[in-house]
Amino acid sequence: MNLILLGPPGAGKGTQAKRLEEQYGIAQISTGDMLRAEVKSGSAIGTEARAIMERGDLVPDSIITAMLAKRVTQPDCARGFILDGFPRTVPQAEALDSMLTEMGLALDHVIELQVDDAALVERIAGRFTCGSCGAGYHDTFKPTAKSGVCDNCGATNFIRRADDKAETVAARLDAYHRQTAPLLPYYAARGRLQTVDGMADMDVVASQIATILGKATATA
Ligand code: ADP
Ligand code: ADP
Ligand code: ZN
Repeated sequence: MNLILLGPPGAGKGTQAKRLEEQYGIAQISTGDMLRAEVKSGSAIGTEARAIMERGDLVPDSIITAMLAKRVTQPDCARGFILDGFPRTVPQAEALDSMLTEMGLALDHVIELQVDDAALVERIAGRFTCGSCGAGYHDTFKPTAKSGVCDNCGATNFIRRADDKAETVAARLDAYHRQTAPLLPYYAARGRLQTVDGMADMDVVASQIATILGKATATA
């Protein structure tokens, strides 16, 4: 099963992708995480991407599609994948279509998480992740059970993203509305788009997604 989680920054794509990865044994592919790893390693891609990401702009399509083409051939993608943060532009969606055709793969679902801009700002402002295992948290909506300790692995080091600061968030939302939102009619025209209410509680969002996937499996 191959799917896309589509939605603005902070919509809950990563949160839901991690759950789906566990439930279905398919790989979460987060182009944002891949880029942050490149930045950390100091690679040529990372050096180019860093300033762009800090401004809240999108990294050029050519870099992203090359990165993704390589990623989907990894063994953990054999059972399928969840694209989280890709595609983000129409040219990326077109590149994905050709890539899938070449590999003989289908795109099973495109699921949009719909969230108001005001809620996104609040979600992004409170977001942090475990520095050891990558588990995602929120100051208000998903705090750790014990203050300062990761529920999942017990680590005590946490990360807040450089681009999650208020000044950058407006630019990222603007990039979403200008460059990524055109993907909604793109996939709707192909009969692929399904929308869930991303404003709901995380568990409710997860069950809305499960219903979409369950229905599809039942009729497949
Ligand atoms: P969020 O989950 O908050 O939407 P991501 O982690 O997906 O953020 O992305 C962080 C940044 O990485 C983006 O603002 C952008 O600069 C870059 N990026 C990630 N994925 C893509 C992509 N598919 N195309 C272009 N830039 C990307
Ligand atoms: P994205 O990957 O789309 O940028 P995340 O999954 O990182 O979004 O979620 C952004 C922040 O909002 C995280 O801190 C996460 O814990 C929190 N969050 C995710 N889904 C919800 C939800 N349904 N309700 C409230 N907070 C949420
Ligand atoms: Zn952890």
